[in-house]
Amino acid sequence: MKTGKAGFTLLEVMLVVVLISILAAIVIPRFTISSQRAKVQSCEMNRAIINKQVETWYFTEGTWPIVDLRNIKTNVNYFPDGVPTCPVDLTSYVLSDTRFRISGHREGATTHVW
Ligand SMILES: [Zn+2]
Repeated sequence: MKTGKAGFTLLEVMLVVVLISILAAIVIPRFTISSQRAKVQSCEMNRAIINKQVETWYFTEGTWPIVDLRNIKTNVNYFPDGVPTCPVDLTSYVLSDTRFRISGHREGATTHVW
């Protein structure tokens, strides 16, 4: 029968728990921020692609697409996989009726603050 120390003391276990908690407190917020930043950048890329396709539509068809994009989204020549939706707020993109560019979704807008 052994009489020496076996296993970990309560102090050692508590030290490990505190270290893991500190590491989690550092890593989890960074991961959340990175995920949100990636979604905002994806939204910016979606806007650029849609704006480019809207301009292509204008030069090909001679008119601007409908502002809710319902006519361009059904044409597989422009969006074979469908018009993407915003990964930040999961809304559909719409065109400004005066500038014929995607409206909203800009960094710093209420839905895209990070
Ligand atoms: Zn967006």
